Amino acid sequence: MSSTAATPINQLSMSEQLQRLQNKAISSVELVDATLAAIETHDGSVGAFLQVYPEQARAQAASFDERRARGETVPSLAGLPIAIKDNMCRTGDTVTCASRMLHNYRPPYTAGAIERLERAGAIVVGRTNLDEFAMGSSGENSAVQLTRNPWDLERTPGGSSSGSAASVAARYVSGSLGSDTGGSIRQPAGLCGVVGLKPTYGRVSRYGLIAFASSLDQIGPLATDVTGAAILLEAISGHDPRDSTSVDVPVPSYSQLVQQPLAGLRVGFCPAHFSEGLDQEVAQTIRQALTLYRQLGAEVKEIALPHADYSVAAYYLIAPSEASSNLSRYDGIHYGYRSDKFENLADLYAASRGEGFGPEVKRRIMLGTYALSAGYYDQYYARALKVRRLIRRDYDEAFQEVDVIAGPVAPTTAFRLGEKNNDPLAMYLSDIYTIGTNLAGIPAISLPAGYSKSGLPIGLQLQGPAFEEIKLLQAAYMFEQAAGVLERKPGMVGG
Ligand code: GLN
Repeated sequence: MSSTAATPINQLSMSEQLQRLQNKAISSVELVDATLAAIETHDGSVGAFLQVYPEQARAQAASFDERRARGETVPSLAGLPIAIKDNMCRTGDTVTCASRMLHNYRPPYTAGAIERLERAGAIVVGRTNLDEFAMGSSGENSAVQLTRNPWDLERTPGGSSSGSAASVAARYVSGSLGSDTGGSIRQPAGLCGVVGLKPTYGRVSRYGLIAFASSLDQIGPLATDVTGAAILLEAISGHDPRDSTSVDVPVPSYSQLVQQPLAGLRVGFCPAHFSEGLDQEVAQTIRQALTLYRQLGAEVKEIALPHADYSVAAYYLIAPSEASSNLSRYDGIHYGYRSDKFENLADLYAASRGEGFGPEVKRRIMLGTYALSAGYYDQYYARALKVRRLIRRDYDEAFQEVDVIAGPVAPTTAFRLGEKNNDPLAMYLSDIYTIGTNLAGIPAISLPAGYSKSGLPIGLQLQGPAFEEIKLLQAAYMFEQAAGVLERKPGMVGG
């Protein structure tokens, strides 16, 4: 369906919504109401949201509408409803990370990225579900609820930003924020047929993002189209002195530049990305994408990432090691859920952590504690760091040859709920194509590239050099325009 008058306004693209708000063709209250109505109708079956803020969102919308009516200048995203993943702090909200451990946590501060988003005029309509503490690839590790894929309710939306991807796929909102430590924005975006971008490490402030693995975590946008991702990225990017790893480099005007034609694009592909375990339909779609780039005038050539095979192993040492340290603060005394079944202090710690964390989080803490322990540190953690450096070097060398590297986002389309739940290794392998990006600290985008015969979305991933998000966005936009995959929506929302 195209964006005619018949399209519900919550289903319009972000740029169309913003244009109509600016022209006063629609009001922000109307847009927020349409969003809330869509959530009301469908979220009982999708389960994307953990919290919705109807009164607050309507009040903010009404205030922007009044300011517009008075002829005041309003910020660029004024009145735009956005969903955020429930691991980003905002004063006044309860932030759970979908964990029992944080069931009643009310942060006294707001995340840097959310501050920027709200300063730009966006309205946070609600908080979305995730795998507990962002650990997982299917959303099923949430201690609160299951999120279903809007394209097929028996299937997973991917994870860990399961609700952020599903809320955009279901067209409640035109955009949302997720976080990506090993693929948690891109993999669910791919499985849900939306666009997701993991920025360069340091591009977006991590201040107020509840830490999973601090050297890998990054907040980024999800949107129905590439332009929407560019608009949100521009709003949330920039230096924040409260995050010591935030980098002070100017923020390009992504929203203005994204649609500019890109001449002389060099697209790399890596044979290692087409190895065993890759679903045939996914492989075929990615090959077609490379053909399309060729037809669009890009130079497409093979590159090597010799250490790509070690990325999952390195990640599953580094990320759990950092997690075991970050999560040590939740002991029932300093932070987090406190059990009432204890005799002494040691019991209190053990019972609180035992009852407060779910099985996957415990598995990560145990893995990480082991990898960091005396005697094993050099063998596991220190070695993983060396591999990480080699992976980074592979990318540096590849980007001497090409501007972007194209490949699959995930080895399969959306899998069935429950399918990989009892097999952690199979679950970890769904991150095989996304993890290298985080280890190298570079940016990557996932965008719809096609659909399987059974009608499930297939994502294309483009990786780029550090701080070259604009190149990724332009290359993605070029594909999006030519591939004609944008108009398809899940059947449940009238696609
Ligand atoms: N699925 C990966 C994991 O479980 C990545 C998670 C993420 O990016 N937050 O660790």
